[in-house]
Amino acid sequence: MGLDFKAVRGGMLAGMKQAARGALHIVFPPRCIACNDAVSTDFGLCGPCWRDTPFITGLACDSCGTPLPGDDAGPVLCDDCLAQDRLWARGRAALTYKDNGRKMVLALKHGDRLDLVRPMGAWLHRAAMPMLEPGMLVAPIPLHRLRLLKRRYNQSALLSCEVARLAGLTHCADLFQRPRATPSQVGKTRDERFENLRGALQVTPRRRDLLAGRHVLIVDDVMTSGATFAAASQAARAAGAAKVSVLALARVAKDA
Ligand SMILES: [Zn+2]
Ligand SMILES: [Zn+2]
Repeated sequence: MGLDFKAVRGGMLAGMKQAARGALHIVFPPRCIACNDAVSTDFGLCGPCWRDTPFITGLACDSCGTPLPGDDAGPVLCDDCLAQDRLWARGRAALTYKDNGRKMVLALKHGDRLDLVRPMGAWLHRAAMPMLEPGMLVAPIPLHRLRLLKRRYNQSALLSCEVARLAGLTHCADLFQRPRATPSQVGKTRDERFENLRGALQVTPRRRDLLAGRHVLIVDDVMTSGATFAAASQAARAAGAAKVSVLALARVAKDA
């Protein structure tokens, strides 16, 4: 009876990997991504932080993802989306931008917390489920190159890449470009926000063929008025996209 060396070696390797992971957890025990308390699994929140994080899991506006009261089965729209024509078909958000939701978005954006991308990607993927279709193209809202130089990474691109990976869809990090730097949206009214971003995004010319006739899922970290998504949707539609849907990590809700 000969030994199956391949199987033995495979088993030993698996054992060593497990031991290595075990050792890693002794040196670096998995931590809650929000409060740093020890947790039993990687890439997660502890119980109290999970409860304090405003995930949007119930009824949500089919166009902007804002949480809505009630438990209607069919697609519903919030008052904002009823009052204006959105330039995209459907939208979702994983979190409300408040409390721990806001804290974690800011940690990703300004705190170099790239470890957050993986769990956030999973939350986004779950929120996007109702909109996902085979053949969709996933693309982030870009930063202007000067801001990208300063921040070194585009948090929206990291998130959209992770969503595309989890959904098994094509990702295009440079589908959109921002030809000019736009003044900050902070402190502007809703109308000023839309005006500020009018024409601010374009489809990258060499990506037009990839986009033509496709359903595009545009991903951003935060949705406030929807002006950024509107500018990207406008650009995508003008360049021949068949359909546009939008996905935000966090939605700034009116009562937030
Ligand atoms: Zn925690
Ligand atoms: Zn809405």
